[in-house]
Amino acid sequence: MTEKQNDSYKDVLDRLEAVNKYLNLPDGIYGRLRIPKRSIIVSVPVMMDDGSVQFFDGYRVQHNTARGPTKGGIRYHPKVTLNEITTLAALMTWKCALVDIPFGGAKGGIACDTTKMSRDEIKKMTRRYTYELLPFIGPEQDIPAPDMYTNEQVMAWIMDTYSMAKGYSVPGVVTGKPICIGGSLGRKEATSRGLVVVLLEAVKNMKLSVDGLKIAVIGFGNVGAIAARLLYEKGAKVVAVSDSKGAIHNPKGLDITNVLKFKAQNKTVTGYKPADNITLEELVSIDCDVLIPAATEGQINSKNAKNIKAKIIAEGANAPTTQDADKILNDKGVVILPDILANAGGVVVSYFEWVQDLQRFFWKEEEIYKRLEEIMINAYKQVNVLSAEKRLDMRTAALMLGVKRVAEAIEARGLYP
Ligand code: GLU
Repeated sequence: MTEKQNDSYKDVLDRLEAVNKYLNLPDGIYGRLRIPKRSIIVSVPVMMDDGSVQFFDGYRVQHNTARGPTKGGIRYHPKVTLNEITTLAALMTWKCALVDIPFGGAKGGIACDTTKMSRDEIKKMTRRYTYELLPFIGPEQDIPAPDMYTNEQVMAWIMDTYSMAKGYSVPGVVTGKPICIGGSLGRKEATSRGLVVVLLEAVKNMKLSVDGLKIAVIGFGNVGAIAARLLYEKGAKVVAVSDSKGAIHNPKGLDITNVLKFKAQNKTVTGYKPADNITLEELVSIDCDVLIPAATEGQINSKNAKNIKAKIIAEGANAPTTQDADKILNDKGVVILPDILANAGGVVVSYFEWVQDLQRFFWKEEEIYKRLEEIMINAYKQVNVLSAEKRLDMRTAALMLGVKRVAEAIEARGLYP
């Protein structure tokens, strides 16, 4: 029932169909892109602290392997469904191809509420989930990473469980690990840094200035909070931020250093002063130049898109804008820096982490940020050129580039047998 009400994979298929109008792919290749290669559903039993056994639904979808092993995060969230995970896996395929790193897309998740679970319960759930996925993951096969409500610690447990089963340490099985077990410098900030690089390119292109640029951020988690901090440090004026409990607004600009301290102490941004508490819907329509959705899917939709005042939307989250909202915003002339471009910095540095793990040779932070910037600027420019050339919005142009690269790989490899 919930699946039907919220069929985000239909959006993926519709958007694929729209870009195929330009690409005209052979049916065999188009068909392959529409169907994930492998979808795994596992039941994850966990002995809870009270002695009861709870069964969690776990998923891992490996969407396409034409360009390499699959790559993508694992999320722990009560609303996780196979439909959502399949959508996000497909987005990872286009994303990896767009930034031209040698991976296909995957995504995983467990339907659970970690805010109501103890550390020990989360650890046991992670280890059992990893065990169930053992035949399907690995450095040459499928490499998970953090996503919503998972972090370095969860990655460390996955790496350990996988390594125990193999009998030797396999750092390359996950990215986003702690540095002490083969994690990469710069991975934690990578998504936000990549987003800021792309956003600043767009700002330059639109002849705007970062100085005093008014920013509103939906979601003050890893991606949103770090992006807010980086932009604040560059002189932008972050006027509003939100988290799952509510939103705050100060038209004169928030002191992000203080908001970060407040959030660390109070676990929410709501109640921070000097600022007014507002609702999420009010935040979406606030007077600002840039809106950064960095929380869950579909937060920009047909109900609120018409009220948006921002000139640029930089998608830190995956699939934050519905198709209907896209149409409304494109008609209004809002520039959308789409998820597969704007938030690709995370998987780019994951790629660097994986390369470092395979080579057992680690790079300096400057090296990582330099290469990240190069890749992000290059991808932005390619999308921008195509969008101008063919008069397409940035999302369609980005999708076209990503999908075309995957199709080329499928074509080159041919159909087995
Ligand atoms: N979860 C992140 C994303 O959606 C990162 C994936 C990765 O690093 O593999 O892009």
